Amino acid sequence: MMVHMSNMSTPCGNASHEPGRHEHRLPFLFFSGRPCLDFAATRGGCGHRGTERIGAPDHLTQWGIEAGLLPDDGGAGEATERTVREACGLRESLYRAVRAKMDGGIPRRADIAEVNRWARCAPLPLALSADGRSRAWADTETVTGMLASLARDAVELLTDVDAGRLRECAGETCMVVFLDQSRTNSRRWCSMDLCGNKEKKSSFKRRHPTAR
Ligand SMILES: [Zn+2]
Repeated sequence: MMVHMSNMSTPCGNASHEPGRHEHRLPFLFFSGRPCLDFAATRGGCGHRGTERIGAPDHLTQWGIEAGLLPDDGGAGEATERTVREACGLRESLYRAVRAKMDGGIPRRADIAEVNRWARCAPLPLALSADGRSRAWADTETVTGMLASLARDAVELLTDVDAGRLRECAGETCMVVFLDQSRTNSRRWCSMDLCGNKEKKSSFKRRHPTAR
């Protein structure tokens, strides 16, 4: 299902476009503890900041499915080249705003405006399934609703969370930002299985240079 709209001046609607098909894509990272930070990690992470994971419409829809924000079949959450561009714009703004908070600064005005532009849009509708245990999906789940929900999550993160709980993964080439919810506030890695293990292996090699 696709909604065709033209002359959109707000991000609250879909643009018309036939989605492309891209079979190969990088895995998504869901380690950050917050949907908006997982979304920020669709660029970079366990590589470098230039690594793009949602560069195609079906990648963006797939991210929404894997994030649990869109139904398994994507529902009405069909992304377009335009929504990909808009998603990337929102992602960069929210990432920079989070980094500004981490650095004790104030986000750029343009980044605040971009996050707000999306946060004002209708978010994904929330509903409970008949068994009362899972989420029920509505026909109105869309990628734009998903972006609005992510922007709202960013607003809550930026206003409710202590900056000292936001950290960048200690992995040498990883730029994933996560919310440290550990009791001791000492989490270092986006994921122990990825960057944590990589570091363990390289520190073993440093200590045992002749070992194979
Ligand atoms: Zn990492």
